[in-house]
Amino acid sequence: MTNIIFPFDSKISYEQRKKAMMQDPHLIWLTGLSGSGKTTLALRLEHYFFCKGFKVFILDGDNVRMGLCKGLGFSEDDRRENLRRVGEVARLMLDAGLIVISAFISPCEDDRMAIKEMVGEQRFIEVYVNCSLQICEERDVKGLYAKARQGIIPHFTGISAPYDPPASPAIELMTAEETVDESVRKIIEFVGPLISI
Ligand code: ADP
Repeated sequence: MTNIIFPFDSKISYEQRKKAMMQDPHLIWLTGLSGSGKTTLALRLEHYFFCKGFKVFILDGDNVRMGLCKGLGFSEDDRRENLRRVGEVARLMLDAGLIVISAFISPCEDDRMAIKEMVGEQRFIEVYVNCSLQICEERDVKGLYAKARQGIIPHFTGISAPYDPPASPAIELMTAEETVDESVRKIIEFVGPLISI
């Protein structure tokens, strides 16, 4: 078959971009059950870092499913494809010099590790937003657990689909016990020095 794809390298180096953006790009990967606090924390972090002058952007599960990943479901294969696309977009954003915060349940360790490899280990910060199923279900922020229990939503993580806790997250938050402020503070203390140049 005739090759019709010829990728090229930009004339602007990654180092030049970092310097121009005045930051060291990292992907802050929030993983945890639905209702554990990923979106809440992503929004708070984005606001904090933006106000500090960082160029930061959120990739969120529900938002990408409206466009980039429209049409994908929640089967194991579709979840994997969803995260593969997110990983590729995150990589491009990092290469462009951004700080990326992502909020995806991302229940499989293998999928999270594939993203770590895709973006580069040194740019990947895994944050385990740990919260018991019981508390997430009590919160039921979006009313999804009730529907999952009734069988209206299939493949629901924690109810009818598994969640593999991260083996060695950079940060682990216990959001049933910590306030939002405390959890945000823990991430900022860890991430702040890594993204500053
Ligand atoms: P997810 O995005 O993981 O589905 P959400 O952020 O939508 O979860 O909802 C989490 C809920 O838990 C929010 O109502 C939030 O106020 C509450 N919450 C309580 N403590 C924390 C904490 N330490 N971190 C994040 N959220 C918390």
